[in-house]
Amino acid sequence: MKVVAIPLTTRFRGITVREVALLRGPGGWGEWSPFLEYPPEVAEPWLRCAEEAMTGDWPAAVRDRVPVNVTVPAVDPQRAHAIVTAGGCRTAKVKVAEPGQTLADDEARVEAVRDALGPDGHVRVDANGAWSVDEAVTAIRALDRAAGGLEYVEQPAASVEELALVRRRVEVPIAADESIRRADDPFRVRDLDAADIAVLKVQPLGGVRACLRIAEEIGLPVVVSSALETSVGIAAGVALAAALPDLPHACGLATVQLLTADVVTHPLLPVDGCLPVQRPTVDVPSVEQLAAAPDRHRHWEARLAEVRAVGEDRRS
Ligand SMILES: [Mg+2]
Repeated sequence: MKVVAIPLTTRFRGITVREVALLRGPGGWGEWSPFLEYPPEVAEPWLRCAEEAMTGDWPAAVRDRVPVNVTVPAVDPQRAHAIVTAGGCRTAKVKVAEPGQTLADDEARVEAVRDALGPDGHVRVDANGAWSVDEAVTAIRALDRAAGGLEYVEQPAASVEELALVRRRVEVPIAADESIRRADDPFRVRDLDAADIAVLKVQPLGGVRACLRIAEEIGLPVVVSSALETSVGIAAGVALAAALPDLPHACGLATVQLLTADVVTHPLLPVDGCLPVQRPTVDVPSVEQLAAAPDRHRHWEARLAEVRAVGEDRRS
């Protein structure tokens, strides 16, 4: 196991440095990067995803490119326009409902994004669960107008029950993201008719094959998203997106730009709005250069032992 510490380009989830464990197995490298505050039970499915990558046992790809979205943070309209233009993607995900900002700020940002994309692009918004049901209904209608049509709204409210209520009052499709973190969650979203689209992340849900099974069973279109990973972790998300029988929406996998460095020879960055379906080669000198301090290595070794014990309990 190698532990790297990579500074982020901007603060995200309250952190400025991302710590990632890279594990090498007979079938290649796997990324194990549960956030530091996660207890062993939560970090365990993340390890299953890494172990699957280490065996190299990913399902066959049915496509060779995965369309991805550019992400627009809660910035001013000029900056939003520039990010979309530079991103080169046909789909933009716009962060909205930022604390301290108004609906008018969100409308202006969404308008600028539509202007940058042109009429054929797709605009989706992500509220990260920030709205109440009534706020969501008002905001979604306003942003749908500002965008000249939204592709979907991601996690407009916090709970699955609220998503279901919002979904009954608006025409714009609803995507569940934060509502899906454990393996049972997608089925709850489906059973409550709470969303039109499921956002799946391979690490929290236990790997590529586990997510493929979920996708088959829930009968909702899937958007594959990332968890602030290096290209080693993103490759697992790409493997899922490549294996899904249907992929009607762009995926949220263009996130290695959020890190100031990567651990592979050719980072998984979008070309013409798509990521190539390929497994990147780990660059060992980069891994050494980005190595975390010895005490952090010891922390992750101890964490790995704890999480492996949880995994053995689960299997027995
Ligand atoms: Mg989201």
